[in-house]
This record gives sequence, C-alpha cells and structure tokens, in this order.
Amino acid sequence: MSETAIVFDIQRASIHDGPGIRTTVFLKGCLLDCLWCHNPEAVSAKPQLFFHFDKCTQCGDCAKVCEEDVHHFIDGKHTIDFEKCSLCGKCVEACNYNALKIIGKELSIDEVMREVMADFDFYSNSGGGITLSGGEPLLQFSFSMELLQRCKEMGVSTCVETSGYVSEVHLWEILPVVDILLFDYKISRSDEHRNYTGVPNDSILRNLDIAYDTGIPIILRCPVVPGISDTEHHFKSIRALDEKYPNLKGIEILPYHNIGNNKRTSIGTHETLADLNSTSPEVAAQWLEQLKELGCVKARIG
Ligand code: SF4
Ligand code: SF4
Repeated sequence: MSETAIVFDIQRASIHDGPGIRTTVFLKGCLLDCLWCHNPEAVSAKPQLFFHFDKCTQCGDCAKVCEEDVHHFIDGKHTIDFEKCSLCGKCVEACNYNALKIIGKELSIDEVMREVMADFDFYSNSGGGITLSGGEPLLQFSFSMELLQRCKEMGVSTCVETSGYVSEVHLWEILPVVDILLFDYKISRSDEHRNYTGVPNDSILRNLDIAYDTGIPIILRCPVVPGISDTEHHFKSIRALDEKYPNLKGIEILPYHNIGNNKRTSIGTHETLADLNSTSPEVAAQWLEQLKELGCVKARIG
C-alpha cells in the first residue's frame, strides 16, 4: 500500500527552495523548536486548528457548532482553548470569514505526485523540480523515500531540506534519491544550539560529514538572527565549514523574519522573540559583506 504523510502545505512555483522553479512539499513534524522558526505550525507532527485573528468578526458562529467548548468571547476578545479541540472541523465550515482552518492533511503519494507533475514543464525549462521541506521531511521517512523515488522515475529533480537532526541510517538511505541537499546550519556552539533549538548540534555536524563524503551537492542554509547568530564567531564558523567542505554547492544566509510569531499565536503556542523585527535588506547585505570579507565567496542571501 502506498505511504501517506501529514502535509501542511504544497507551494507551487517556489523559487527559494533550491534551483529553478520548484514545487515545495512541506511535511509536518520536527524534533527542533527553534526560537526563530517561521513555520511553527510544522513542529507538531499532528494536524492543528489554526486561527486567523485578523479575519475574525466575532460573529460567534464557531462557538454555536463546537461541541468541545473551544471558542469563548471574553471582554470583546475571541479566545480559543486549543487543547480541547478534537479537530472535527465543524467550526471551520461554519466560519464565513475563513478565520479558521485545520493545518495538516493526510495525503497519499499519488495525491502529492498529481500536484508535483502539474508543473513538470516548468521544471524542465528552469532546472527546477520538487523540494521536500517541513518540518523535517526525514521524520516521515517511508513517505519521503517513496515520493522521491517516484519523482526520480518520472524525471523530476529532487531537493530535500533537512535540519540534519535525523537518523544517520535514514540519511544514508535517502541520499541516492536526492539530487541536492539543503542542509541547515543554525548555531555553531553546541550548548547554544541546545538553548535556542532544543537540541545539541553534535549529531547534526556528524550527519553533515556523512552527507558531504557521499559527494552529494549540498547547499548550506544558515538562518541569521540578530542578537543570536549575527556574531563574528558564528560567521567565522560558517567560513570554517566552507574551508572544510570546499565542494559545497552554495552557502545561503536566511535573514530573520518575524512571520513566525503571529503564527505561534494562531496555533495557541507562546510567542518567541516577540520584540524582534524582521531583518532589513541593508542589514542582510552587511552580513553578506562580512562573510565575503572572511573569504566566504560563495555566500549569498537565500
Ligand atoms: S465563525 Fe469565524 S468570524 Fe465568526 S467568531 Fe468564529 S472565527 Fe470569528
Ligand atoms: S475543530 Fe471541532 S472541536 Fe475543534 S474548535 Fe472547531 S468545532 Fe470545536
């Protein structure tokens, strides 16, 4: 029987997740919980209720159909008891303002392939293909493996974006069906990595070693967050990896964007870095300049 996975988004015509025009398939579930995550709805492996506060008119229709007493209106504010939600979907249907949705849907390989193949001509003309992202796509390993195999059979180029915090065995097994690996490098010191992401980075760096030694093209993806990872020490550590792995296909810095905070509120989790604004293009350009001055010539803004 064909595998299924909990998918939270499929973005067609994506140009930021690998070369060319791509279809990016986002899978739910991640073992990290980075403070700056811009897809916090990806962390839980399960579907979740998502509330667009800005669209809500407080009409109260959701509360009328909900049997779990999730929706409340207190002091002119619509509050949601996310813990109680059984994901029946009745309030989503009842809301005429699209203020509610369920994030994450179980999809089969065939269903995802239909979306992916719809843009096949764009891939051929642009050097694009499919990118598996998330969340951490290797956590839903059997699905990811089978989907990538199917893509290869159909002549679709494949990228996988990984946090690197995955089973070594799974990494080994999946690399033969991956054309380009987008490998995250977040924080250089392991204790700080644990503080900011919830896990240390020792096994991540081991997995980077393993992947690099196979000869697969790797693009290092480095989120840079003001006050956390915009330090000279971290930039030097990116340069050190550049020297250690001279055949890296690319190094992308991903300037902090605060989009994740609103989303955290929408799924009922605590806000992080609430006072931190998105990075301006000028500051991002300075970071890039710093990296180039350190000798990181292949660095670019991702
Ligand atoms: S039905 Fe929609 S618009 Fe009305 S109160 Fe509920 S979420 Fe808000
Ligand atoms: S999905 Fe169902 S249980 Fe959850 S809030 Fe909506 S109506 Fe209530």
